[in-house]
Amino acid sequence: MGRIRVLAAEVASKIAAGEVVERPVSVVKELVENSLDAGATEIKVELLEGGKKLVRVQDNGSGMSQEDAALCFKRHATSKIATEADLERISTLGFRGEALASISAVSRVTLKTSDGSGEKGFQVEREGEKLLRFVESAFPRGTSVEVRDLFFNLPARRKFLRSDRSELSLVVGYLTTTALAFPEVKFLLIHNQKELINCPIVSSLGERVYQLFGKKVLDSLMSLDYEEENYRICGLSSRPFAGRLDRQHQFFFVNRRPVKDRMLGVALTQAYLGLLEKQKQPEGFIFLEIPAEQVDVNVHPAKSEVRFREPQKVFRLILRAVEMSAREESLVKPIIVSGERGEEKETLIPVGRTTWDAETGLKAPGAGWPKEAADGQPVLLAAAEEPAAFRVGPAAEPQSGERKATVRVLGQYLDSYLIAVTEEAVFIIDQHNAHERILFEKFKQLEGARAWISKQMLFPAVLELTPKQQVNYQERRPELEELGFRLEPMGSLSFALKEYPDVFREDEAAGILLSLLGDEEEGKFRSRREKMMATMACKAAVKAGQPLSPEEMEFLASELLATPNPGLCPHGRPVVIRLDRSKIEKTLGRPTE
Ligand code: ADP
Ligand code: MG
Repeated sequence: MGRIRVLAAEVASKIAAGEVVERPVSVVKELVENSLDAGATEIKVELLEGGKKLVRVQDNGSGMSQEDAALCFKRHATSKIATEADLERISTLGFRGEALASISAVSRVTLKTSDGSGEKGFQVEREGEKLLRFVESAFPRGTSVEVRDLFFNLPARRKFLRSDRSELSLVVGYLTTTALAFPEVKFLLIHNQKELINCPIVSSLGERVYQLFGKKVLDSLMSLDYEEENYRICGLSSRPFAGRLDRQHQFFFVNRRPVKDRMLGVALTQAYLGLLEKQKQPEGFIFLEIPAEQVDVNVHPAKSEVRFREPQKVFRLILRAVEMSAREESLVKPIIVSGERGEEKETLIPVGRTTWDAETGLKAPGAGWPKEAADGQPVLLAAAEEPAAFRVGPAAEPQSGERKATVRVLGQYLDSYLIAVTEEAVFIIDQHNAHERILFEKFKQLEGARAWISKQMLFPAVLELTPKQQVNYQERRPELEELGFRLEPMGSLSFALKEYPDVFREDEAAGILLSLLGDEEEGKFRSRREKMMATMACKAAVKAGQPLSPEEMEFLASELLATPNPGLCPHGRPVVIRLDRSKIEKTLGRPTE
């Protein structure tokens, strides 16, 4: 006697059901997707006991005819694909035709539906595999599916369900995500008679974010809209200097389907390097539109995984989109005057659009301090026509005659901070962090233009490298050489530094090279190259405690405000503090005019 036996149909279908239906949220997901596919503009989800006792989804979609209501519980019964070719161009959410069959195999289901023809409706009641009742009953156009006692006939599965709270929170998570993707649909979630989500129809993502997360979150976001070839990205993401401490507000959608993909999260984090304080994570409500043949969203229908044909293109799209929008935003950290903690802590004060423009290139020669120009005059940034000026308010063409607030540097505090003023505010600028930021931006431009130039050392420096440094040197050599550093071995430990990047002074070159041979800590940088540039910037920047000449101070203040994001240094530390005039006057009890 053989031991292999064909399973009874009922057992087989319960097993199959378990693959589609794992827990209440999977029931909600399948039912809500059916409602969306049916063109509903209003979807109400009701739960009892985290959905374990009851899940009811009611919609005002197309409804079903008598014939469809009878067929819809049959496995592989679907109105969404008829031929194999259809599989290639699926636009609806569900298409396998097994959700209702699976759900009804493991619960007690009541379906009420009407397609609106002739006031009639139908009611179907099932328990496990059995049809209990199929009757005519009046019902408005639309469908309601009631799923009771999930896994009543599979006690082993039922045991795996978690507490009401945690099943509920999965449902809340799913509905939140779905509501973000469909602002044109009204969503309601009611748990044990209590309303948890109520999002009437709105016309934009921003309004939906407002409904779900509130004003403060919405205010901290900027919009993204960017297109490259036939890939498009739009949505909302953190403004520079905003962000939050966790990643809970990161949502990604591909062609409107929510997806989970590590790469997308990594891209978003990288896009925000230098835009957020160290411990902050970006928020993102990100919609990617990618040609259907470039993406496979059905890798695992229940887990919303996704496979991109050209992942690096998606990655770049995210970086660029954030970069473009952030450039419009430029913010610096506002100060909190003591005694007014709380409400204003999180507000961001824009210092205006920056004047930086990739096309104009570098504004001052070299990377460090102003060098002598050909005519012997020190070359100050933004030279004669715009002496140490930066703008508060929208950027204006220099010739437009629009009035700009001019910044004046009053001096240095503790040889570490520049005190600068405009009509509207007092600024305290960290000279080291500021210079670091300026250098970093310049290095990035050099890198982008592949314009590193190396220079011969007049007096080659002799360096003794530790074994560790030598290993690091061998490993990083291609990058170091591209930057313009050239070493020649002079024995077992000694090396001569023969060439160095032209942006540095000869006397600082050796020290900078050594800092690039140090151990790499886990940095939040886009690439090793970028990390190297940050290290160079840090090393070459003026230190705290160093007295500066008035020209140097002006140079720093004006250059800083010409960088895309003056608010943070490359390592994410704040650079500028702003103290508003209105706040000063208020604090000092002076009536504001
Ligand atoms: P699928 O969605 O993969 O087609 P389902 O088992 O989820 O499979 O649904 C089977 C069929 O029942 C659908 O193709 C659709 O025709 C019909 N149906 C299910 N839910 C609804 C609904 N809420 N409104 C209208 N028709 C529905
Ligand atoms: Mg379906």
